[in-house]
Amino acid sequence: MRNLSFALALIATGGLAACATPPAAEHHGAISTAGIAPALEPARADAILQRTQRLHLAPDLSALTPGERVAVDELLQAGERLHRLYIAQRHPQGLAAAAYVAAHPELTRENDLFRMNSGPIATTLDNTREPFLSVSPETPARNIYPAGTTRETMDAFLAANPDRRATLMDDRSVVVEATPENRAHALMVLDHHPVLDTLHPGLRQRLQTEQTYLALPYSVAYAHDILFINERLNAAADAVESGDPAFARYLRLRARDLLADDYEGGDAAWVTGNFTGNLNAQIGSYETYDDALYGVKTFFSLSLLVRDQARSAELQAALQDIQTVENALPYTHHREVRSDIPVGVYNIIADFGQARGANTATILPNEAYLARQYGRTILMRGNILLNEEIFAETQRAFAAAVIESQANDLTPESGFYRTLWHEIGHYLGVDQTADGRDLDVALEDTADLLEEMKADLVSLTSARILQQRGRITEAQLRGIYASGIRRVLQKNRPRREQAYNTMQLIQWNWFMERGALRFEDGRLRIDYRRYPEAVTSLLREVLAIQRAGDRNAANAFVERWTTWRPDLHEVIAQRRRESERTRFTIVTYEALDGAR
Ligand SMILES: [Zn+2]
Repeated sequence: MRNLSFALALIATGGLAACATPPAAEHHGAISTAGIAPALEPARADAILQRTQRLHLAPDLSALTPGERVAVDELLQAGERLHRLYIAQRHPQGLAAAAYVAAHPELTRENDLFRMNSGPIATTLDNTREPFLSVSPETPARNIYPAGTTRETMDAFLAANPDRRATLMDDRSVVVEATPENRAHALMVLDHHPVLDTLHPGLRQRLQTEQTYLALPYSVAYAHDILFINERLNAAADAVESGDPAFARYLRLRARDLLADDYEGGDAAWVTGNFTGNLNAQIGSYETYDDALYGVKTFFSLSLLVRDQARSAELQAALQDIQTVENALPYTHHREVRSDIPVGVYNIIADFGQARGANTATILPNEAYLARQYGRTILMRGNILLNEEIFAETQRAFAAAVIESQANDLTPESGFYRTLWHEIGHYLGVDQTADGRDLDVALEDTADLLEEMKADLVSLTSARILQQRGRITEAQLRGIYASGIRRVLQKNRPRREQAYNTMQLIQWNWFMERGALRFEDGRLRIDYRRYPEAVTSLLREVLAIQRAGDRNAANAFVERWTTWRPDLHEVIAQRRRESERTRFTIVTYEALDGAR
């Protein structure tokens, strides 16, 4: 299908358009690569690349209908364009750097580093972020706030102008300086594309009058790209209309969402739609991880997925037990949970933008009001979760930590099921405090950590119940328990702001305290007999803390259970570090690059 030279040509052509949008996003004519050159010593680049594994994803597409094949082609084009936007969002010189590496295929190091980092900044072996091309260093403002913006300056402006907060902090807008050029530019975009004017009531007036900063909705900031993507999604919808009408309706709504910068329509259709074909796709901007200034701006992504029909059906059957799992959780205020949770197993055809990498599962949308009204869709990524190379690395780190006779308890399948029930776990248990507050409002910076720990522990509880009900074997349960241990062991002492690692360390310590883990001659022994009680008692604590909604009590709990002992944790961490062969991943896709 689409080949690499096409992909690079797209990147190299840059801003395609004569009519323009603001400097934050699009460019006039060809992008200049002047002054860009390699900047990282070859030895350091090689050290990173030696710790990098390459995954080539080539899922079986033989079940696709002719219409679905056309849709795949259209959605890959939309994905390429969203990937360019992602690069542009993350660094002011991102697209120039992309053009530079594309023009220099002989620079294999820089091309590999660009590919794995989606931009000119590399994560190094010391976990720092450094430019590997001669571009400006990475800043918290990325390319979605004016260059040089700090929390101090923006906080001061928002404090003095509280009525501006909603638009400036909107999750789908770029903040630019209110210069005459930026203002004229944005108004010209509205003149040239009346659809954007109509879909953003009040925007024209704000652009005409507001001072200091302007908030440009993504569709206005990246108008030509968004209009191109809109066309691709509508074309994909036409192609699947007769075979999978619900998927077609979702694609049309999402095409419109992208013009309005409001995803409610598409999200509702995505989460609740009964897709009957082979395809699914996550499209647009959702995750905020890349906004290092406020953590509110979303970054573009597209994941194109083909359904694993057999595993998806098996999964739906297992969901019949979901109320039984809820009722078995150690708290009293059980809820009625829906059993028609939209969950499917997919293989990745291609990932773009923020979604590119080795993610194992996705649960979206994030906004609490959308999740409450429509639910969330769960996309299990089978060709990552069951990937042999990734599992080999996981297995090495597990074997380095536990006693020899338990080293083979882990299986690729066990990680798959543990992750699956983790995602479903987000649907179960406490979802509000006893006095009716949202958990993230009540618990703030501890909310994510507790929610993720809850999901981990619900997963382990589900496995026990599924085994009791004859849906999985005792050997499978043992594998899932081993995976639960693998999950909580660390390679480094977590920093408190690392929510996942911190809650994993809490579990590790709790399991030691409750005898589910013992330290013997520098290794850990899993006591599978004591395991269920250790899970239940910790889950009881977590649910009680969530229900109470007391942030100080939550922090005290975290403080108490995050001990790191040199003679225990560090010993295991070091063994795991020494087992490591690869840390980074370059993913390539058959659908984009052809066979490698
Ligand atoms: Zn989770």
